[in-house]
Amino acid sequence: MTDVVIIGGGQSGLSAARALNGHGIRPLLLEAGPEPTGSWGDYYDSLTLFSPARYSAMPGQPFPGDPDGYPRRDEVVAYLRRYAGTVDADIRTGTTVTAVEPGPRGGFTVRTAAGELIPAAGVVAATGSFGNPHLPVLPGQAGFPGRLLHVAGYRDPKPHHGERVVVVGGGNSGVQVGYELAEVADVTLATRAPVTFVAQRRDGKDLHRWADESGFDHLPPQWLIHYLGGPAVLDTGDYRAAVEDGRLPRREMFTAFDGEHVVWPGGRREPVDTVLFATGYRPDLAYLEPLGALADGLPLHSGGLSATHPGLAYVGLEFQRAFSSNTLRGAHRDAEFVAAALAAHVRDAPALVGVR
Ligand code: FAD
Repeated sequence: MTDVVIIGGGQSGLSAARALNGHGIRPLLLEAGPEPTGSWGDYYDSLTLFSPARYSAMPGQPFPGDPDGYPRRDEVVAYLRRYAGTVDADIRTGTTVTAVEPGPRGGFTVRTAAGELIPAAGVVAATGSFGNPHLPVLPGQAGFPGRLLHVAGYRDPKPHHGERVVVVGGGNSGVQVGYELAEVADVTLATRAPVTFVAQRRDGKDLHRWADESGFDHLPPQWLIHYLGGPAVLDTGDYRAAVEDGRLPRREMFTAFDGEHVVWPGGRREPVDTVLFATGYRPDLAYLEPLGALADGLPLHSGGLSATHPGLAYVGLEFQRAFSSNTLRGAHRDAEFVAAALAAHVRDAPALVGVR
């Protein structure tokens, strides 16, 4: 019998587990993959954190190494592996949740791919978005004979040696991947608007120090979305220089595919081998459809607390409560907020006592 089931064993699920521990709850954490290290191991090989180690740590465990260095992907995997050992939770890996359904007495039933039915008084959905890449569909796309790829499936530049590649998207992933591909391929960056660059360091200090000290990290997201207007790329200067000097030429997004060509605004057609979409992700929550907790696949929530189902909460949504919500340094603040509400829900709902 389970008080709270956490679905997803990345930084969000582990933050939720730690926060629930603070309320005396030992959750059951279900992770589809082989270990509770989230999606980090599947990100592209060259990935280096945009946040220095000192601003990439979760509570209770400093990030090892130079605090001002930028950890690599595999260092994050190792960090989360260690972190999982510090939380008090029943962690079951290799367990995919296929559905969350209404359970007895106002609780939930969590259904796994192996057919197990787990009753729970509370559920935390912490499954990130990497499993749900967003791929736009353009006219003629189905007839394109080349390679169509989302950046979620990109690992390294090798398969694209000598190719003509269009990278779609002006965010961090699009620019980083376009930059490294341009070393081996003929790359064009296609974006709807000019790329916005933000200086990674000012006066020798990383931007995250300012974000932390100024409180920017904690500001409510509505204000920030308005302020930012669109994606911004953290840059030490190399990316901007590459775009400006033509090593990574940027063009306005193409309008259609035509056979092996892309059609640029104005009608010019150019043959392309690979189109790589760095067009973002959507929350990976299909298992909540049976519950009716979503609208168009997106969670109905306020600050991570379900607006439709008391006892259901989210951790790791983009801009869930603040700018830093979906980051290593920020997930814990949302986790602590929802854990307090879940603990009260579990404690104060006498109808659920029989379920626990
Ligand atoms: P995930 O890491 O995606 O973990 C979700 C887990 O849920 C996975 O382990 C998955 O296997 C599991 N799961 C999914 N569905 C199910 C299911 N049905 N049943 C059971 N388990 C399931 N943040 C930073 O702070 N610094 C950075 O530098 C940074 N760089 C990034 C670079 C890239 C390319 C991307 C995509 C993101 C980056 N982020 C960064 C943002 C964010 O920190 C990461 O996306 C992080 O992995 C999110 O953690 P999470 O736990 O919310 O989700």
